[in-house]
Amino acid sequence: MPEQDLSAGKRSPVQALVLFGPPGSGKGTQAKLLMQCLGIPQISTGDMLREHITAGNVLGQEVSGIMRSGALVADEKVNALVEERLAKPDCAKGFILDGYPRTQQQAEALGRWLVRRDIAELVIHLIVDYNSLITRLTGRRQCPHCGTLYNLFSKAPKQDEVCDLDGTKLIIREDDSAAVIKERLDAYDRQTQPLIAYFRNQGRRLLELDASSDPPPVLMKKICSAIQDNARER
Ligand code: ADP
Repeated sequence: MPEQDLSAGKRSPVQALVLFGPPGSGKGTQAKLLMQCLGIPQISTGDMLREHITAGNVLGQEVSGIMRSGALVADEKVNALVEERLAKPDCAKGFILDGYPRTQQQAEALGRWLVRRDIAELVIHLIVDYNSLITRLTGRRQCPHCGTLYNLFSKAPKQDEVCDLDGTKLIIREDDSAAVIKERLDAYDRQTQPLIAYFRNQGRRLLELDASSDPPPVLMKKICSAIQDNARER
């Protein structure tokens, strides 16, 4: 979709796209597809935190245990990380938030940041049933070399547990073990899901889409046309 389509509405175009949904709902996959299509960056708090862990710096050391357990990292840390990232020049035309906000405090911090800059926001809620989430999360594999994502149930590699592109043995993300998956889904139910009611009460723009069965490119097209329709209605 050409970028100008987003500004077809009467007021300012959507600049902040929030991909919202439980672990395994496909936020990361959709964020990557939308990034290519819209030409605005994906900001994944999970990826940023994992980068700090890989770098072995102070923040990385502080958050690695929490992330391994499936609990949420403290709001101040994540808010600071996002605020620093949003100040970078590549966010000037817009950005896709993937995995943020996840608590009311984060939603409030983001809300203040957007209001100060008069930036229009659109929350896209990806709805997936619990059983599909479990299947997706337990089947997830990644190539540690090139980063390609696979799923044993929906996008299996040609050869068992080996990357199609470079032959590297695939890995399971540390927090994709059964016990940690349960904790991540519980954290979502307790701390993140209630934000839907908060967004509604606040009159924030919210689109809800069934994300349980469409292949990723089909869902991406649906998201793009929902964004266009929403921009026209404004
Ligand atoms: P998923 O959505 O599948 O849980 P992420 O990569 O988004 O995967 O998140 C992995 C982990 O990173 C979370 O379980 C949590 O510990 C931490 N994390 C990511 N984003 C946030 C956030 N906005 N607030 C607090 N913790 C976060």
